[in-house]
Amino acid sequence: MNEVKTQVLVIGAGPGGYSAAFRCADLGLETIIVERYSTLGGVCLNVGCIPSKALLHVAKVVEEAKHIEKAGIFYENPKIDIKKIAEYKSGVVKKLTGGLDAMAKMRKVKHIQGVAKFLDENSVEVELINGEKTKVIFENCIIAAGSQSTKMPFIPHEDPRIWDSTDALEVKEVPKKLLILGGGIIGLEMGTVYSTLGSQVDVAIRGEQLMTGTDKDIINIYTKANKDRFNIMSKTQTQSIIPKQDGIYVEFKGENAPKDGVLYDAVLVALGRSANGNKLGLENTNVEVDESGLIKVDNQLRTKVPNIFAIGDIIGQPMLAHKAVHEGHVAAEVIAGHKVYFEPKQIPSIAYTFPEIASAGMSEIDAKKAGIDYEVSSFSWNASGRALASDVASTGMTKLIFDKNTKQLIGGAIVGENAGELLGEISLALEMDCDAEDIALTIHAHPTLHESIGMAAEIFEGTITDLP
Ligand code: FAD
Repeated sequence: MNEVKTQVLVIGAGPGGYSAAFRCADLGLETIIVERYSTLGGVCLNVGCIPSKALLHVAKVVEEAKHIEKAGIFYENPKIDIKKIAEYKSGVVKKLTGGLDAMAKMRKVKHIQGVAKFLDENSVEVELINGEKTKVIFENCIIAAGSQSTKMPFIPHEDPRIWDSTDALEVKEVPKKLLILGGGIIGLEMGTVYSTLGSQVDVAIRGEQLMTGTDKDIINIYTKANKDRFNIMSKTQTQSIIPKQDGIYVEFKGENAPKDGVLYDAVLVALGRSANGNKLGLENTNVEVDESGLIKVDNQLRTKVPNIFAIGDIIGQPMLAHKAVHEGHVAAEVIAGHKVYFEPKQIPSIAYTFPEIASAGMSEIDAKKAGIDYEVSSFSWNASGRALASDVASTGMTKLIFDKNTKQLIGGAIVGENAGELLGEISLALEMDCDAEDIALTIHAHPTLHESIGMAAEIFEGTITDLP
């Protein structure tokens, strides 16, 4: 078997892996990245964040054209060319993955295409695409092998009409009737795309509300805004899924479940993601992996084995690209001998739905759990000039959560148009330990949606005098 040696081996080229590899190379470490696919970028660039946002952009344009009728502009019904939409999405992905390739080459990070399996705590075997094997001997290793859609034993995943998010992103067809199992961000983003393209979408959730973990006041605005887009079947469990010639026959049970079975043209299974930790041969090492495939690490991203690190989805929630990137940087710097830790004050989360939902720091649910004496200050966009002018007032709210005693900001959430872009200010305020006065005294431009953040702080301070 062919053998190569390197100072750092990175397994997986998602946001965590490529960020770690690039930082290692920038710090003067000889770095090899092993990735099973030909392109760098992992789930996020190839079948996650980026293609989904390209499709959501397309859907947004269609929605905005519908909305403007109220203001006297009428468009014909859109003619939808599904092939062109898929091409647009793939073009965006190609530009970004091509850019990553160039950055890797520039830094002399070597990309070996193949599947890595640990032989011991200093080497992996890589099965190349031509079937040959290469041994990579490393001084340090960063595992960034990510996660995959959770599969359920009672679901016949092999039927092509039963989709995971990767299938949904292919946009090969627009099913007349689509069922989404699960009320999380990924399912709702894809549901937003397909409902805009013409699918009738049912969403089955076990609990009472979509996006569990999001505060009720925020999710209620979202749910109300989407009452015509989705048929949300709360407190509903799926009992059986039977592929038939004329569709996928699904039976449900539960408080709000349909009594009779329903025939769907496609079913999107969006029940979360499972870490890939159990597929790497880690049993040949002392790295700790739990039953669900999660790898245990300390606050320097080091596993129980001192020269093996793990980052990104494979170490757990929140399974988000920006978390993986920052962890990648920390792991690389620790290997280079820096005294750094991964201890963020906040990790933002965004659902790019219509409207968007964005949050950072603590939710009310978190604050209650932590026993913090908190106070909420919310600003409804009904009082925002910019929101009214843009016809997004009724679906927007900015909410800040303060520690009642110190007046320090401990969390924030925004539901509304461009909430994801607006969230940056809240993230920075949390990172900088801002209190209500810092935010209230910051001059926000008028008329903007972000002035709603200043207004919420002023309401908390009791200094609000006029409304924009
Ligand atoms: P991954 O991106 O999962 O990459 C892991 C890589 O490792 C893969 O390329 C895989 O092929 C490779 N690999 C695995 N095992 C091996 C092996 N044995 N040998 C070689 N290679 C291997 N996050 C956001 O922050 N914002 C979003 O808007 C967002 N949208 C999403 C939309 C969808 C539809 C999905 C599915 C996810 C989305 N995410 C989003 C989540 C985001 O994609 C992940 O959190 C992120 O990709 C995790 O990065 P990672 O580096 O941990 O691993």
